Amino acid sequence: MLDLLIIGAGPAGISAAYEAKKAGLDYVVIEKGLIGNTIYNYPVGLTVFSTTNELEFIEGDLKPAREKPTREELLSYYVRFVLDNELNVRTEVTVLGVGRVEFAKSDVCKEIAYRVVTDKGFFDAKNVLFAIGAMDHPRKLNVPGEDLPKVHDHFRETYPWVKKHAMIVGGGNSAGEAALFLAQEGAETTLAIFRSDWENNDPKQGCIKYWVKQPLEEELKEHCLKLFFLGKVIEIREREVELESESGERVVIPNDVVFVLIGSDADLTMLKDLGVATEQGKYGEVPIYDPETFETNISGIYVAGHFTNHRHIKPAIDAPKVLIPKLAEKLNGKKAEA
Ligand SMILES: Cc1cc2nc3c(=O)[nH]c(=O)nc-3n(C[C@H](O)[C@H](O)[C@H](O)COP(=O)(O)OP(=O)(O)OC[C@H]3O[C@@H](n4cnc5c(N)ncnc54)[C@H](O)[C@@H]3O)c2cc1C
Repeated sequence: MLDLLIIGAGPAGISAAYEAKKAGLDYVVIEKGLIGNTIYNYPVGLTVFSTTNELEFIEGDLKPAREKPTREELLSYYVRFVLDNELNVRTEVTVLGVGRVEFAKSDVCKEIAYRVVTDKGFFDAKNVLFAIGAMDHPRKLNVPGEDLPKVHDHFRETYPWVKKHAMIVGGGNSAGEAALFLAQEGAETTLAIFRSDWENNDPKQGCIKYWVKQPLEEELKEHCLKLFFLGKVIEIREREVELESESGERVVIPNDVVFVLIGSDADLTMLKDLGVATEQGKYGEVPIYDPETFETNISGIYVAGHFTNHRHIKPAIDAPKVLIPKLAEKLNGKKAEA
């Protein structure tokens, strides 16, 4: 019987593992992909927008060559952190479901715990922390042709698309970065974006960051990038895309590849199956939890990271620093009672 099972080895899950080890808990992290899987899926060579103090587990630990780390430097730091601290992380194991189980503590007393079923067996744990991120369901345009193999829901790298017609649909920083990478490296690039997103300069509303927007504007001036103020996407076809402009005009653009970068949502099914209550947050549906303890309405079920009310790495790392010591206190209290 584990004290804690952590689902997900992103910044939140790694931070939780480190804190759990420090607190002497019996824990394991189950990760369906690789250590730092979301960061692994960032575009190759990307410089992240956060500064080191917002990304590291221990102050002064992350030492990039420039002011901000690249994807590779950040990923290497997270992987090294897990290895150097000998954190108990099992990769390429997917959690399929979590159910309640009762164990007889004595003739009269029963203990509630959780059975975590994975594709490679099951674990029993007194507590489960969901640190599952919000990348499971990339949002869709729901238009004809979206299932063609040339349509991608994340942008990996630019070189296959040099001298080809590339279209990015989206209005946030990921869409802006993909458009910039493609335009700078010689793809015939069109960014299809709502005018309100292009003109949005409020960093709190998830706009394209100014250090991405400025070079995008340079690319526009040099005619290496085209901007299309979108009404809606009508259809994606083998060799072209049909769009409707903001004024209702239909346009057909030659096309070899489409990147639909309009955000993604967490999969809350396992939490809901356990009876965890949810609400509509700023960016979509989120689990309801106590902001002091990160425990949900279901005792022993905790949440942290990107699919809660926090969107960035710093709060994902900070949450377990509060959550784990409180959980350890609770477990020690129970041990003392017994
Ligand atoms: C291109 C890009 C650039 C970004 N740049 C920045 C930045 O500069 N600064 C910043 O603060 N944020 C940035 N972000 C956002 C940042 O990546 C997230 O805030 C961060 O990853 C959240 O950490 P997390 O641990 O909550 O979730 P994640 O890092 O998403 O980790 C969740 C993990 O859970 C695993 N998982 C999910 N379901 C299961 C399951 N059923 N079984 C087992 N494992 C499971 C996933 O595989 C994943 O590894 C960026 C995002 C993108 C896409």
